Amino acid sequence: MSCEVLLKSHLKTLKLPTILTEYPRAARQCAQEERSYEAFLLYLADLEVAERQRKAVARRIKQAGFPAEKDLAGFNFSAIPRLNKKRLLDLGQGHYLAARECIVFLGPPGVGKTHLAIALGHEACRKGRRVKFFTATGLATAYAEAREERHVQRLENHIRKADLIIVDELGYVPLGQNAAENLFGFFSQCYERTSVIVTTNLPFSEWPQVFGDERLTGALLDRLTHRVHVFEMPGDSYRLKDGRTQLKEMPQT
Ligand code: ADP
Ligand code: MG
Repeated sequence: MSCEVLLKSHLKTLKLPTILTEYPRAARQCAQEERSYEAFLLYLADLEVAERQRKAVARRIKQAGFPAEKDLAGFNFSAIPRLNKKRLLDLGQGHYLAARECIVFLGPPGVGKTHLAIALGHEACRKGRRVKFFTATGLATAYAEAREERHVQRLENHIRKADLIIVDELGYVPLGQNAAENLFGFFSQCYERTSVIVTTNLPFSEWPQVFGDERLTGALLDRLTHRVHVFEMPGDSYRLKDGRTQLKEMPQT
């Protein structure tokens, strides 16, 4: 068997697909530039590692189930001057995940709460963390379905494996007794084990209305706010503001 055929076969066996496709070009280039054998090998190893990392991040982002692609770079902080940009970018570094801390984005619709929650989720995926995105009603439904099918354990195992869980839009719809109890169970399970990001339009004082039970809500808030970063996001809807700017910028005829 020729050297080339054997090398390709070994690279396939060793599951090094990037080296397999890149080595002929890299070999020609390194020969031309009279680079050392070590430099050649390092260049190929770098390519393989980078490609593996890229694929792993893409896989984690897909598994997270984000409803849209949003990142911190795409967030216009000047639209919401009261938001502490530095504190938020610091959180983007992900230390809160190791400390199992939670984050709450609180504000009216359209101010960018979901955008920031997804953006922090993306950052976590980039740092090798497992993330899962739910809407509050979606999470309550997932529990209800799991209970019906006697698979709660499976759902809880799934949740336990995540490093970060995003619960979007808590408070938009009042929850029934079962949904409230399921969400309470969820927050208890995550307490000091998994970081949670919550987006909500309701100040904490109004949460009993959504959960329908003063005592349950008190216990839930106790767990959620034990180690929490709260970002209050006042202001007008960015969607509307953005629309108005675009209208202004349209050529006048
Ligand atoms: P909320 O969750 O607070 O209701 P969203 O995060 O869904 O708001 O924001 C509505 C839309 O406006 C999204 O497309 C989001 O990307 C965009 N948006 C909101 N605030 C900003 C901002 N400050 N910079 C860039 N885009 C923003
Ligand atoms: Mg939202």
